[in-house]
Amino acid sequence: RYADVPATLIDVLRDRAATAPQDEAVVELGGRRLTYAELWDAARRVAGGLRAQKVANGDRVALRYAAGADWAVAFWGTLLAGGVVVAVNTRMTEPEVAFVLENSGAAIDLAPGTALPDGEPHVVEGAGADDVAALFYTSGTTGRPKGVPTTHAGFVTNAENMIRCSGITRDLGADYRTLISVPLFHVTGCNSQLLVAAYVGGTSVIMPQLDVATMAEVVVSERIGYLITVPAVYALLLRYPAFAEADVSGVRVVGYGGAPIAPSMVRQLKSAFGEATVMNGYGMTESASLITVLPDADAVDHADSVGYAVPSVDIGIVPIADDPTVGELVVRGANVTAGYWERPDANADTIIDGWLHTGDVVRVDDAGRVYIVDRMKDIINRGGENVSSIEVEAVLLSAPGVLDAAVLPVPDEVMGEKVGAVLVAESGDLDVAAVLQHCRQNLADFKIPQFASVTGEALPRNAGGKLLKRNIRDEVQWGDP
Ligand code: ATP
Ligand code: MG
Repeated sequence: RYADVPATLIDVLRDRAATAPQDEAVVELGGRRLTYAELWDAARRVAGGLRAQKVANGDRVALRYAAGADWAVAFWGTLLAGGVVVAVNTRMTEPEVAFVLENSGAAIDLAPGTALPDGEPHVVEGAGADDVAALFYTSGTTGRPKGVPTTHAGFVTNAENMIRCSGITRDLGADYRTLISVPLFHVTGCNSQLLVAAYVGGTSVIMPQLDVATMAEVVVSERIGYLITVPAVYALLLRYPAFAEADVSGVRVVGYGGAPIAPSMVRQLKSAFGEATVMNGYGMTESASLITVLPDADAVDHADSVGYAVPSVDIGIVPIADDPTVGELVVRGANVTAGYWERPDANADTIIDGWLHTGDVVRVDDAGRVYIVDRMKDIINRGGENVSSIEVEAVLLSAPGVLDAAVLPVPDEVMGEKVGAVLVAESGDLDVAAVLQHCRQNLADFKIPQFASVTGEALPRNAGGKLLKRNIRDEVQWGDP
């Protein structure tokens, strides 16, 4: 745990409102702009309104607004009330929302369209570093989303990790302007952008709706210095004609993460953003965001790595086969949750002797760089040989004519599982034979896809840019390659 950092997020915001009241805190594109003084006042009124609605310390408040200024005000207001924010995915269907409301035991439901609570201004007293401030739900890539309690110390620790890895300090102030194009209900947008901006006294510029067409323009007009988004968004942005013409020389940090990135895209980002520092961040909801960061110096030469453990995190490997350098990544640290909300079953499987099992299979090189081999649940067991779906996807992405790719197991009576590839063609027909030839040049024979399915449609990804393999599996029709 870091010394000399604010104990709580409440202290963070109070300090900014006192020392830099006129600096811009939150900007909603096409909506409200709030200074730190205005944010502090608005949040205190929400806190008073929530207390008037009988919210007591530790009560959960479901935050279901769309991304924007009200989301930020309600987030801070809940903390000032002493409540716990339940960040709800706005893309969820009604039954999914019902599950989150029920699982979190939310006392208040800030449903879309609900006015911000209002009352006498209020700030809770006695909040401490170890108090839970929010529940974020995991993406639900591998199963039902799980609620992750995050303490004030967890948020503050992540913010400190984030700035150290970006080479900045807490006194950066108004020079820090970040564009939030990813959801606020996941940890990248909230913890590593919105809260980092408050931590350094900078500005969060929030895109209520991801709009790649205006992104380049916004980067320029809002003087964005810290751009963070998922690889899928960069892929769209780099293809956008307006982007090629925009003067993005004000961008200092280009961050990506949440899902694997193609090494070729890293090179494109490097050349598109000139002097900017590019960095890959790997993390998960359970760690309040960052676990590792790949710094600029390694970005191109080790583009397949997610980098080194951030300062507050200890990492370890639990081997899954004979090779001791490959295995499940386990983590612990002040930013790692103590356990899921109301999920004793998941806690028993995931948190063992104080280490959180990430579900990610990794390799670590001699320099300490971490490489994600695959997610445990996506590894294909082909007759006893482990095949990393991510490794095969990376090779497919570098094959001629392939725009996107997903690799999945195909059940097989003899081999248990075989390797299947869903391919998105760059344009028109895809020469599958040429793609497989490329695979043969780059992969051991047991990793080469035995089934292929070519589609003209984009692969399903969630708002965090992650491939939804479960959805693909349900729909795919396999053909022989
Ligand atoms: P669930 O746990 O509910 O199945 P999820 O793990 O997808 O969903 P998140 O916590 O949002 O939910 O995502 C964390 C996961 O995202 C990591 O465990 C890892 O597999 C993947 N990930 C995050 N950052 C990166 C990155 N930079 N490169 C590759 N994969 C990443
Ligand atoms: Mg997970």
